[in-house]
Amino acid sequence: MDLRIGFGVDVHRLEDGRKFMLGGVELPGTIGPVGHSDADVLIHALCDALLGALNLRDIGFHFPDTDPRYKGIDSTILLQNVMVLIKERGYRLQNTDCTVILEQPKVNPHIPAMQEILARLMDTTPDRVSIKATTHEKVDSFGEGKAVKAYAVCLLMKD
Ligand code: MG
Repeated sequence: MDLRIGFGVDVHRLEDGRKFMLGGVELPGTIGPVGHSDADVLIHALCDALLGALNLRDIGFHFPDTDPRYKGIDSTILLQNVMVLIKERGYRLQNTDCTVILEQPKVNPHIPAMQEILARLMDTTPDRVSIKATTHEKVDSFGEGKAVKAYAVCLLMKD
């Protein structure tokens, strides 16, 4: 059995007046992440985990933030492109486990919708896409609501 494990992490600064995309879902509220793309921190961590599992460098290598083609791009498109690279090499996702660190808004109510969207994009079922959320206990930049962070691990199996 050919198994590969991957890990990814991403951080984005939060500012007033930005749309907040997380795991392909728009969160309510007035703050959101700043970035060259739509700054979906969960999808970016997931892309890095998938790429890392097959030693394919990182998201910035494939989609540079200096490239105008990726300005404001929907991160679900980046994830679709990453999945093409995974499938081309004959692998599929066994499961992924992700954690989002965000003080507010609350992530938990949106997790089922994120699982549906991400499972569809990765050709799997929602029960194989674990998403967890925690706050940073009001400590440091994350706890002060200045930034959002996501971690992801994934397991790929060769068909
Ligand atoms: Mg990012």
